[in-house]
Amino acid sequence: MEIRRTANAGVLLKLDGVSILLDGVCREIKPYPATPPEERAKLCESYPDMVCYTHAHKDHYDPTFAAEYGKQTGGVILGPEELPGCNSTMAAGSVGGVTVTPIPSRHIGGAGKTVSHASFIVKGSQCVWFLGDSSPLLWKDRTDLPKPDFLFVPYAYTTTPTGWTITRNLGAKKTVLLHMPAREEDTIGLWAATEATTKFPDDLLIPSVGQTITL
Ligand SMILES: [Zn+2]
Repeated sequence: MEIRRTANAGVLLKLDGVSILLDGVCREIKPYPATPPEERAKLCESYPDMVCYTHAHKDHYDPTFAAEYGKQTGGVILGPEELPGCNSTMAAGSVGGVTVTPIPSRHIGGAGKTVSHASFIVKGSQCVWFLGDSSPLLWKDRTDLPKPDFLFVPYAYTTTPTGWTITRNLGAKKTVLLHMPAREEDTIGLWAATEATTKFPDDLLIPSVGQTITL
């Protein structure tokens, strides 16, 4: 499996020859990075097999890209039905033996009351949980879901002992931490809090925007 971080909280994932974009084109909310123009151009040159969005916040979602994707490919986006400017569905999708299942989930904090949110389970030869901005507390007792090989999480899972304990107990082989500012632009101490909580183990990966990692 290969991933490329294309956005603040998003990746282009390639699993079993299928490409899946998850929260992969976003706008900027400082200190979080926007999708760089060259990444956006690459994604529009050859659209991924599936496009998924967890929710409509700017640092995860770009309605211009979503509308263009729909216009150019006729494809439907997986995610909450309230995503503005595109056709979206909470039904599971399958391409080439890889299935993506949206799981309704609550956005962490007060935004949980105002924004619809979905997380995604990607299942092929490996199982990926892409949790978006969902609350870590949702996942600790989900024995109904297939066990994750790889976990994609935002900083809420690595900056508090409770979040980190839940992350560890999910038992993934590797955890990919997204939704991090560049270290030199981190004005809110997320790198320091993550270091203090996790001690940066080898199986916690923090890709920079544009970086490709083989898992
Ligand atoms: Zn959000």
